[in-house]
Amino acid sequence: MITRMSSLFLRTLREDPADAEVPSHRLLVRAGYVRRAAPGGYSWLPLGLRVLRNIERVVREEMDAIGAQEIQFPALLPKEPYEATGRWSEYGDTVFRLKDRKGADYLLGPTHEELFTLTVKGEYSSYKDYPVMLYQVQTKYRDEARPRAGVLRGREFVMKDSYSFDLDDEGLAASYQKHRDAYIKIFDRLGLDYAIVAATSGAMGGSASEEFLATAESGEDTYVRSTASGYAANVEAVVTPAPPARDLAGLPEAQVHHTPDTPTIETLVDFLNGAGMGREFTAADTLKNVLVKTRTPGEKEWTLLGVGVPGDREVDMKRLEAALEPAEVALVEEADFTANPFLVKGYIGPGALQANGIRFLVDPRIVTGTAWVTGADKSDHHVVDLVCGRDFTPDGTVEAAEVREGDASPDGQGTLVAARGIEIGHIFQLGRKYADAFELDALGPDAKPVRITMGSYGIGVSRLVAAIAEQHHDELGLVWPRAVTPADVHLVVAGKDDSVFEGGERIAAELSQRGVSVLFDDRTVSPGVKFADAELIGVPTIVVVGKGLAKGVVEVKDRASGERTEVDVDAVVEHLTGLVRG
Ligand code: ATP
Ligand code: MG
Repeated sequence: MITRMSSLFLRTLREDPADAEVPSHRLLVRAGYVRRAAPGGYSWLPLGLRVLRNIERVVREEMDAIGAQEIQFPALLPKEPYEATGRWSEYGDTVFRLKDRKGADYLLGPTHEELFTLTVKGEYSSYKDYPVMLYQVQTKYRDEARPRAGVLRGREFVMKDSYSFDLDDEGLAASYQKHRDAYIKIFDRLGLDYAIVAATSGAMGGSASEEFLATAESGEDTYVRSTASGYAANVEAVVTPAPPARDLAGLPEAQVHHTPDTPTIETLVDFLNGAGMGREFTAADTLKNVLVKTRTPGEKEWTLLGVGVPGDREVDMKRLEAALEPAEVALVEEADFTANPFLVKGYIGPGALQANGIRFLVDPRIVTGTAWVTGADKSDHHVVDLVCGRDFTPDGTVEAAEVREGDASPDGQGTLVAARGIEIGHIFQLGRKYADAFELDALGPDAKPVRITMGSYGIGVSRLVAAIAEQHHDELGLVWPRAVTPADVHLVVAGKDDSVFEGGERIAAELSQRGVSVLFDDRTVSPGVKFADAELIGVPTIVVVGKGLAKGVVEVKDRASGERTEVDVDAVVEHLTGLVRG
């Protein structure tokens, strides 16, 4: 196929778009791949659509290869199935809800577990029908709180979602493994550098769950891995190992001290160490009680929650949100303190929280027998040696404290190092949550019903365009991997002579005949403009037909390395075909 730049629906931009913070967004807009149509909504222009389709093709090939079958649901869905699973409300503000002319409630599908489950229930009844894996490549809608970075986080985006249906846990484990292997093949073929990390299962419910994160500074996810083992987890999923409980016997009594002007951990530690208490304190000896408020989907009112973490750590809101999902979490405001005068800002202790019915959850390091310096619920006062399990009993634990580089790995081997990534895929074992909601059973060999167990597996297809661009670009523009490039060869005619144009035409035609797709810059603009556009657009091989043609040579440039080679014009088609076929 030959795509002529002289008539291609493409306008490249010299300037970065004002709203673009990350390289992929900047370059995809500048190179004319996408255009913003709405907040979090992007139009795909010809070159962008080709990259998107190439990614879809790789995804489909590998899904088909594991025996998954493609189907397609509408995006416009009735409320009832989502009500049956509770997700109509659990999804909160993220769901686009609408009404039809008769007043019936609809939603634009954010993910399709319900529909897949109902469809399998409608078609299958016997154990002999199972297992089955189904998938679709479809547009999803989520009213994201923070759409960002172009197609990286849209409110309308393309997802491949697949679902497995098995009779038992071993079957589910096998379907999960098949998807895991397929995802590895897909992301390898797409030329991505990525990590597979343990994940939380979020609003989907379920147990075993892993994410595929494309390593990128611009990624929204932080993950950690161990220096000494294969342990890797999204920080949201890191489970803090709890130290053993300690004996309460013989621990010193709790004592309230006057600690003037110590509303922060730092001022408190300085004060204690200057007060001649006979021992050295660090921030890790203090218990910081952070007040937040939570709201379960469907509720109007916010509920206060106290979160206790060792004072040397911040509360990581993303971890806290993940731990409390599907509830929403918000910071408290001045009005909350005014409404609850027992809360003494800067001096909040477990005592006042629990005496006033506020749930108090603590970091797993805060175990029975540990002694803390914490707020005494009185301005300018702290209590020293407040012992967990003796002086206060938390209502439970919560994974809210920040995870830091250098922390011991939860598997006991090595320490943690952190990196950032873009979530490109997520696989999880749902178990029977949806099968239970819709009573999806198969009639077993003994005529008894067997409850089906499910897995759910997503890939952010449109997000992948951006994720690949994040990893494959330089200061001049995009540098596509072969598997997704919008054309195999970018052929530039540099010069005004008819002979140069004719030479270009001939090479383009021969390449096309051999199945090599050519982006042919046959415009009459200056060579400088053409070269700049070729770098920006990012086809991996650039061929320049110019002055050298008179001597019988053309120039072949590798976009990634910048390396240029002169190739005999009679051999160039062969040469390029070889490059493209790898
Ligand atoms: P995130 O944590 O990034 O919001 P998620 O956990 O909500 O993603 P899933 O429900 O697991 O996402 O969806 C499957 C895949 O769809 C994700 O792995 C991601 O690649 C992609 N995806 C999710 N939300 C978006 C979005 N707003 N824009 C583009 N792709 C998305
Ligand atoms: Mg996810």
